[in-house]
Amino acid sequence: MPFLPEAGLGAFPQSRHKFIILDRDGVINIDRDDYIKTVDEWVPIPGSLEAISRLTKAGYTVGVATNQSGLAKGYFTLETLNAMHNKLNALLQKIGGKIDAIAYCPHNDTDNCNCRKPRPGLILSLESQLAIPAKHAFLVGDKKSDLLASIAVGSQPILVRTGKGTATENALNRDPLFENIPVFENLAQFVDTLLRTTTRSIDSDKNL
Ligand SMILES: [Mg+2]
Ligand SMILES: [Zn+2]
Repeated sequence: MPFLPEAGLGAFPQSRHKFIILDRDGVINIDRDDYIKTVDEWVPIPGSLEAISRLTKAGYTVGVATNQSGLAKGYFTLETLNAMHNKLNALLQKIGGKIDAIAYCPHNDTDNCNCRKPRPGLILSLESQLAIPAKHAFLVGDKKSDLLASIAVGSQPILVRTGKGTATENALNRDPLFENIPVFENLAQFVDTLLRTTTRSIDSDKNL
């Protein structure tokens, strides 16, 4: 993938807008092959909450789009999912961060719904809840289904190597559809690069 992090993200059209959509498992919190089933199993990836806080303080709107088929499979209840998100929001609040909306798909991959990524329903839901076009967003994920959902709505996909990200990077390495997708070690490195390399272009817009 030819994207060079040192070149930054300022040249991307999305860098003129302040809208980030995040996948949850493997991006914000540590993923588990046996699903995140309890509040205690919901554990942040080091640096991810601080990165979200930096986005909030820089004026970004942050949405989360997450497939949660463990609901359809009965591994956990909606009440538990809400408790996980209350934990996320409480930890963020302590450090000045905020998630503006969370959209989740409760279905199984056999339910043929329109929300389970790679389908675009969750992202379209965030678009209408937050009243910002999804094509103006960067979408950060660790799986091919995140990248495909992003491509479907015209947002800029970003791959991180946390969660399933390294496996995804290796699997898509020779696929031309994905060759220009920027890859970062983790959410913190993406956010650092975004904030470092887009401030100038946003500031200069004010002078036009
Ligand atoms: Mg994920
Ligand atoms: Zn669904």
